[in-house]
Amino acid sequence: MNTDSKNQPSMKWSMRLGSLAGIAVYVHATFLILLLWIALSYWRSEQNLQAVVQGVVFILALFGCVVLHELGHALTARRFGIQTRDIILLPIGGVASLEKMPDDPKEEILVALAGPAVNVVIAGLIWLFLSLQHPVPLDLSALLKGNMLQQLLVVNLFLAAFNLLPAFPMDGGRILRAVLALRMDHIAATRMAASVGQAFALWLGLVGLLYNPFLLFIALFVWIGAMAEAGTEEIRSLLHGSTLSHAIITHFESLSPQDALTRAIQLTLDGVQKDFPVMEDDRIVGVLTQEDLLRGLHEQGALARVREYMQTNIETADIDEPLESVMKRLQACGCRLLAVTRNGRFAGIVNMDNILELVRIEAALKEGSSLKKTL
Ligand SMILES: [Zn+2]
Repeated sequence: MNTDSKNQPSMKWSMRLGSLAGIAVYVHATFLILLLWIALSYWRSEQNLQAVVQGVVFILALFGCVVLHELGHALTARRFGIQTRDIILLPIGGVASLEKMPDDPKEEILVALAGPAVNVVIAGLIWLFLSLQHPVPLDLSALLKGNMLQQLLVVNLFLAAFNLLPAFPMDGGRILRAVLALRMDHIAATRMAASVGQAFALWLGLVGLLYNPFLLFIALFVWIGAMAEAGTEEIRSLLHGSTLSHAIITHFESLSPQDALTRAIQLTLDGVQKDFPVMEDDRIVGVLTQEDLLRGLHEQGALARVREYMQTNIETADIDEPLESVMKRLQACGCRLLAVTRNGRFAGIVNMDNILELVRIEAALKEGSSLKKTL
């Protein structure tokens, strides 16, 4: 229904590869750069075309496994009635954009486990296939030096293990949070899972410092990811169950397309609003953000008309839309405000500040009530 996915920054440089089980699969342009880089580095070290082709085929096979991993998440989520918008392949791995995570922690555990489970199954199948021909040594470092299938076996085990690390951007972080959420509320579980993730990253960093610089790099990635994810997870769980009706702004100043920019200046100086809907006959026809205003002032001065500088591609959202998804869309479209409609008619506006305001209030209320519980 929504076409907002094509406005996502990550989708801009993406090519559609096709679809699997009804889910569109995209590949990001930077992924092609990675392939080129692999090809070049093989060419430089081996100077032969066969090595180059093998290197590229290996990376393609590896990313095929990554797609199957994401498909594991997506199809398990579908069993619980959650759709996946698309799967996108980035040089660092795959991302499946699930509409939302399941509310039931048990379902969330299954959805998160499904990805790594796919890699274990792939590794098992390769092992079975190889051992039908020769006995396969159970020595991973020997296998890693073997043929392409043997390497793929090891890499799939690595993918499963890496994704099960108990820190947030990884599936393991979600599993940990969901397990904790079986016994405590969502936000407390998120915070605890984030702390575990960071403690883990710290330990990994120490080990890396002593033994392997590569681990240090992973530790840094886990640390940053855990912090960022924990922040958004906390906001998400605070917004959980709220719809746009909780955050809609119904008292706001608006402009008319014929207004001069002087009126926008006056309204900006008079109040706290920075971005203005532009209205004509009770319909929203544009948005004038502070940047648009400044650009207009710079180019033509204060007497220029609003309609010359307003943005006319307005994103709309229904008043019953969950706030989690509204927030995602605000981040993705890079727009300052969304027009809110009720039964298709304009009802008000919403912006990120207001949603974050709501988050702060919800957080204060939750802290207050948990304090009361302990008293
Ligand atoms: Zn995963």
